[in-house]
Amino acid sequence: MPELPEVETVRRTLAPHLVGRTVTAVEVYDAGILRHPTSPAPFAGALVGRRVRALGRRGKYLRMALSDGGEWIVHLRMSGRLLWHRERERRERFLRLRAMLDDGSLLDYIDMRRLGGMYLVDADGVGVPAGLGRLGPDAVDPAFTPAHLAGVVRGRRATIKGILLDQRAVAGLGNIYVDEALHAARLHPTRTGESLRPAEVRRLHAAIVAVVREGIRAQGVSFALYRDGEGRPGEMGERLRVYGRAGLACYACGGTIARARVAGRGTAYCPRCQPEPRRQTGRARC
Ligand SMILES: [Zn+2]
Repeated sequence: MPELPEVETVRRTLAPHLVGRTVTAVEVYDAGILRHPTSPAPFAGALVGRRVRALGRRGKYLRMALSDGGEWIVHLRMSGRLLWHRERERRERFLRLRAMLDDGSLLDYIDMRRLGGMYLVDADGVGVPAGLGRLGPDAVDPAFTPAHLAGVVRGRRATIKGILLDQRAVAGLGNIYVDEALHAARLHPTRTGESLRPAEVRRLHAAIVAVVREGIRAQGVSFALYRDGEGRPGEMGERLRVYGRAGLACYACGGTIARARVAGRGTAYCPRCQPEPRRQTGRARC
C-alpha cells in the first residue's frame, strides 16, 4: 500500500527523531518480519548499540544508515507502519517489533498482515534485499528522464500499467500513483508500451513526476493503514482523481470513472479522458 510519497513522508517525519540516536534495546514480538538475520537474538544483538547516522529511502524501501557501517532497511509492503513515540505502556495491535532509543523514545513496527519486513545489512552489504538491487531510478530522481521512460517502454507488448508497476522500470510507483499518472497523461491503462508515441511518453513522464511530487507535498494517501512516522494521516486521499473513485464523476470531463482489471490489479480510469485503444499501433516486427 505505501508507495513512494508515503514512504518518503515516513522518512521525513522520522528523521528528526531517529538521526543521532542509539538503539539501546530491541524487543521482537514476531520473528516473521525478520528477513535478515531471521532469528530475534542475532537481529537484536546486531542492532543494539548502533547509532542511526542518516535516514534515506530508495523506491519503497526505508534505509537507516548505522554507525560502524551497514544499514537497517524496512520494507512496509501492504500494511507495515513505523511509529515513533514515548509511551511505554502504549501497545498497538499487531506490534511486531519495538526498538528503544537512548533518549527514552520508542520506534514501533506494526504490521497487520505481516507482509513487510526488515533487514540488517552488514558493512559488506550482506543481507541487502534482492529487490533493492534491481530497482530502476526513483520516480523523483533526476535519472528518471523522458529518455529513460522511452527506453523502458520501447518494444514492449505489456500494458503500460504493468510496465509502470514493475519496480525495475521505475522505483516507487504502485497501484494508486500509476492510475493517477495514467489519467493525468490521458492514457488508457491497457495501452502497450510499444504503442506509445514520443509525445505520449513525454506526457506520461511529466504526469508521473507531478503526481508523485503532489503526493509527497500532501504527506501521502491514508487509505487503510498508512500513517506517517508520528501516527498522522496524509491528505493526498482527497486529491486523488481516479483511484478509489469508480462510479463517480471525472473532475476533468464529467464522465464516469470506470473500473477494470489490468495487469492483475483493480484499475480506475476515465473512459473519456483515456480512450480505449482500438488497435494498438505498435510497429510491425520482422
Ligand atoms: Zn474524464
